[in-house]
Amino acid sequence: MAGEPQDDCLFCNIVAGRIPATVVRETETTVAFRDINPQAPTHILVIPKVHYRDAAALAAGAPEVAADVLRETQAVADEEKLDSYRVVFNTGTGAGQTVWHAHGHVLGGRGLEWPPG
Ligand code: IMP
Repeated sequence: MAGEPQDDCLFCNIVAGRIPATVVRETETTVAFRDINPQAPTHILVIPKVHYRDAAALAAGAPEVAADVLRETQAVADEEKLDSYRVVFNTGTGAGQTVWHAHGHVLGGRGLEWPPG
């Protein structure tokens, strides 16, 4: 059920501490950790502790937590001293989503092209 921890979800297991991650920030509702396959000098994932399959489902089911996630992307950027950065929520297979637990990518530390590939 949406919002409930899923045993077979990689990011739920990171939230539970069963899978290690390089955590940079944690709040009551969110965790931020370094991406295992960084695409920029700073590449940090901000996730809600509750399980929703993507950002849209999170915004619909727990809008206050979605706001927390967004707030944490800024906190991460501040901690990393990023003047410019990009926040990406890949949503759906065609957009490159591979982990079905909502997450925002915070990317920075290099020039970022637009439009993205
Ligand atoms: P998506 O492709 O937008 O779903 O993003 C999933 C991200 O999770 C990718 O950038 C992966 O590199 C990252 N990732 C996968 N497994 C781990 C892990 O165990 N720790 C940290 N990041 C991970």
